[in-house]
Amino acid sequence: MTHILHRLIRHDYPRAATARGLYIHDRDGKAYLDASGGAAVSCLGHGHPDVLAAMHAQLDTLAYAHTSFFTTDVAEALADDLIAHAPPGMSHVYLVSGGSEAIEAALKLARQYFVEKGEKQRRHFIARRQSYHGNTLGALAVGGNEWRRKQFAPLLIETHHVSPCFEYRGKRDDETAEQYGQRLADELDAKIRALGPDTVIAFVAETVVGATAGAVPPVPGYFRKVREVCDRHGVLLILDEVMSGMGRTGTLHACTQDGVSPDLMTIAKGLGGGYAAIGAVLVGGKVIDAISAGSGLFQHGHTYIGHPVSCAAALAVQRVIRRDKLLDNVVQQGALLRRRLQERFANHHHVGDIRGRGLFQAIELVADRAEKRPFDPALKLNARIKAEAMARGLLVYPMGGTIDGVHGDHVLLAPPFIVQPQDIETIVERLGGAVDAAIAGVA
Ligand code: PLP
Repeated sequence: MTHILHRLIRHDYPRAATARGLYIHDRDGKAYLDASGGAAVSCLGHGHPDVLAAMHAQLDTLAYAHTSFFTTDVAEALADDLIAHAPPGMSHVYLVSGGSEAIEAALKLARQYFVEKGEKQRRHFIARRQSYHGNTLGALAVGGNEWRRKQFAPLLIETHHVSPCFEYRGKRDDETAEQYGQRLADELDAKIRALGPDTVIAFVAETVVGATAGAVPPVPGYFRKVREVCDRHGVLLILDEVMSGMGRTGTLHACTQDGVSPDLMTIAKGLGGGYAAIGAVLVGGKVIDAISAGSGLFQHGHTYIGHPVSCAAALAVQRVIRRDKLLDNVVQQGALLRRRLQERFANHHHVGDIRGRGLFQAIELVADRAEKRPFDPALKLNARIKAEAMARGLLVYPMGGTIDGVHGDHVLLAPPFIVQPQDIETIVERLGGAVDAAIAGVA
């Protein structure tokens, strides 16, 4: 009997008891290899001594001080560190407690930027149909996941959605990736024009799509074209790197691989690596300048922003990643993981696509490869794969999502940056067994 309101109210969840490195152990002593880092959170693995020491030291020194009275050394140090390594143009950091809070703050910063500039008529956000930006109402409104939005739709601020950049399902056979990216940028341009360019606040997108569709990278050039469209109309670009950022794709920020800098960028999960609840918005200089020269007040706030222990955890996580050159390992092990996934699944009758960047990889399951026909959603294949994987001592992040009327089952892999070749072998072997068993159960 539990008094916790779990997501699946009638589901019997095993109890996680201890965790070290790549493994979580449940109360019965069963070990699970954490190949998804929860939901792409645990970038350093579990129980890292440097992070624990930094958090203990911070607790001993100063556990909490409200930000309406004080700033703290540790929050200042974290902000300095984040800006020192941020994409060009970023000048400030807004510290929050997670991804949804980061998105809410980014949406408000974007709106306030235009209010301060005297453009109060700007009220529209444009986002993409294949996206997840969080579960609070503002974040849900910009998100494009119909399954999550549906019953709350009447409560959501009006947002406009354009096509995702999803090569596997969206690119036509008669166009190049370059042409596909251009077509999508043209669609965004047309949407802004239709709404009225001086009424649009921002375009919001995940650099690499995570929870809705499983590690979907943009086609080359897509974001440069999107940046041009936004600049042409004075519209802000908000990139959501809550899942794909902080090293997950092999560079600290995924967008640097696409050659763009946003005006606002959200980060969370890998920022604190699961040691503390923390997220942030990296804020571009032009947004800060407008608010600073205007009211001088960002009209927002939460009790736990800039929490010292969370900041200490995040600072320690980021320092360990740099000191131990873990992004090199992300690139190397990411390439190995991709290769092993190709070897295991490229000829699999029910794997339609293998995709991703760095240690952010996914497979998409299909009933028919030639037609790219998905499995019937009622079969709940993704949930079956998760259960089969857990039975084999493996944690992966399977999802089912409906995009433009097409339901797809995906499995996302996002192991900690400390993963080694022998772990990759174990992950692919156990995943192969889980996928085959789950499909045997529905075929
Ligand atoms: N944005 C993206 C891209 C995410 O993947 C998520 C969570 O999965 C969020 C926002 C919301 O973050 P949180 O669950 O910390 O509120």
